[in-house]
Amino acid sequence: MTRNSSSHVLIVGAGFSGAVLARELAEKAGISSLVIDQRDHIGGNCHTARDHETGVMEHVYGPHIFNTSNKEVWDYVQRFCTMGPYINRVKANIDRGVFSMPINLHTINQFFGKRLNPSEARAFVGSLGDQTIKEPANFEEQALKFLGRDLYEAFFYGYTKKQWGCEPRELPAAILKRLPVRFNYDDNYYSSKYQGIPQEGYTALIESIFDHPMIEVKLNTPFERTMQSEFSHTFFTGPIDEYFGFSEGRLGYRTVFWEKKTTEGDFQGNAVINYPSMDVSHTRIHEHKHFAPWEEHEKTIVFTEFSKETGAEDIPYYPKRLDRDKGLLLRYRALAEELNGISFLGRLATYRYMDMHHVIGEALEYSKAWIQCNQAETKPPVFPNQES
Ligand code: UDP
Repeated sequence: MTRNSSSHVLIVGAGFSGAVLARELAEKAGISSLVIDQRDHIGGNCHTARDHETGVMEHVYGPHIFNTSNKEVWDYVQRFCTMGPYINRVKANIDRGVFSMPINLHTINQFFGKRLNPSEARAFVGSLGDQTIKEPANFEEQALKFLGRDLYEAFFYGYTKKQWGCEPRELPAAILKRLPVRFNYDDNYYSSKYQGIPQEGYTALIESIFDHPMIEVKLNTPFERTMQSEFSHTFFTGPIDEYFGFSEGRLGYRTVFWEKKTTEGDFQGNAVINYPSMDVSHTRIHEHKHFAPWEEHEKTIVFTEFSKETGAEDIPYYPKRLDRDKGLLLRYRALAEELNGISFLGRLATYRYMDMHHVIGEALEYSKAWIQCNQAETKPPVFPNQES
């Protein structure tokens, strides 16, 4: 591929969106890019680094477990890293004991003191569900319809209220649909075909995606709109409300934060234990060395996770997407559509609850569409093809 010297693009943000886009533009269209990030590291919130004291690979902004059923995305990441074998098996610690999450046959039998087989359990849980709810309109109705009140209150109500800072009936049903309910003993947290964690961490993986002569990465470099004039196109992967100087107001996010401690040995015997009860203020505890079962460490680092509303100085994590936010988002999208020479991509720029595999899949799709438009000299879509 020969270099297209008329195109030198700016990519704002060195997370997965920016990395995949830069690499695709370089490899598929010979387009060079400058990738800037205001932080002092690449990888966005997927950033990993070895903890100095213990040598444990730390997921600095919270644990990330790669899982996807999209073979193209799985093959893509494996070009750039060796995936370590990791299956997420979460436990939930409540007053009555320690249970398996997501809800599966073990959880059901243990919680109700029964020995049901799969079809009996399906019928039993079905009988607990509120059948007067036809089309669940929110998180709570989704839970009550498919699980009934006891399981909902034990495992979901408190966790969700702590995590999102509002009543579960104010949240979309889609959030609960992320979790499977199983009538067998499969306790894999995800139902995806492929799952793992990069053996050398996410930052090494993203560094390897950036490792191309047509890509330059500059850290500690905040974006300013005046920069755009020096480039043929800008790809913005930061928060869309920030791009417009919050002119319409701030989009709502939840942020998470941790209390970190270092101790000897094995703290909890598992990578993730959830605490759904309202009696404790944290939502879950992560023990990072268990995310790398192929490594051995004598010491251990433990992150106790809390959640709160995102203030101006906090890192935005989870888009809340309440009705007010959706109205704001439409206004920002309309402002963006009027612009030329810019695209908005990724979790923060499209304000959606996206996992890593969604981000990578969308960056691969979008770069294809963008390259086609660029070659045909037509205006590329400002946003990826998405549900808004
Ligand atoms: N959830 C819950 N109890 C749990 C685990 C999850 O109530 O033990 C709810 C909670 O509202 C959470 C949602 O299910 O936000 C989706 O969970 P997931 O594990 O996908 O959240 P993430 O890992 O993205 O934080």
